[in-house]
Amino acid sequence: MLTKKQLAIQLSKFAVFEKPKLKLEQYPTDSEIASIVLWDALMKGDIVGKKVADLGAGTGILGIGALLLGAVHVYFVEKDSDAVAILRANLLPLRLQNYTILQMDVTEFQDHVDTVFQNPPFGTKQAHADKPFMEKAFSVGKIVYSFHKTTTDAFVRAIAGDYFFAIAEVYHFAFPLRQTQSYHRKKLERIEVTCYRLVKSH
Ligand code: SAH
Repeated sequence: MLTKKQLAIQLSKFAVFEKPKLKLEQYPTDSEIASIVLWDALMKGDIVGKKVADLGAGTGILGIGALLLGAVHVYFVEKDSDAVAILRANLLPLRLQNYTILQMDVTEFQDHVDTVFQNPPFGTKQAHADKPFMEKAFSVGKIVYSFHKTTTDAFVRAIAGDYFFAIAEVYHFAFPLRQTQSYHRKKLERIEVTCYRLVKSH
């Protein structure tokens, strides 16, 4: 069994996007932040023996973390083939079998799961790009961990209410956006991000 520290170290070793695509808002979740949320999910009983979906999986840090912590099966849903190639390379050395990679748009995903993890596009390039992710997560999952720009808090609360999901926990982070895009002038910018733990209320 991993410790929280070992999880953070292992997650920090995975490869991330080689050429992040601006339009898809390809920012990997920082490994420290991923390990905090995943560890809390573990403690809350949302991972061990659970079916998990990682929506907009990218290079896979959230779903791979769930696998390492004892998820029974993880569905990785990602539409970009370049990201999927890196995701496959991250998974290969782990020699696990209990996962499915689905290269598709998030709206096409149909399986039902216990827990969803997602760090969707924040909607800074395409307004409300996270909306189809919320709608999908709420229709396939019972517990949803979802990262959003803190400034969109009202939108997240409203859509959660529409789908009868209650906000059970919030985690605030200063998200490091590494200089992966030429328009980022500062070397390491941070944006305020909230991760919500949402629970189906009925
Ligand atoms: N979950 C990963 C990646 C976050 S970046 C992590 O936490 O590190 C958001 C990801 O969503 C990108 O990989 C992008 O390609 C993917 N994505 C964006 N729109 C999508 C859509 N409509 N359907 C499926 N994947 C999408």
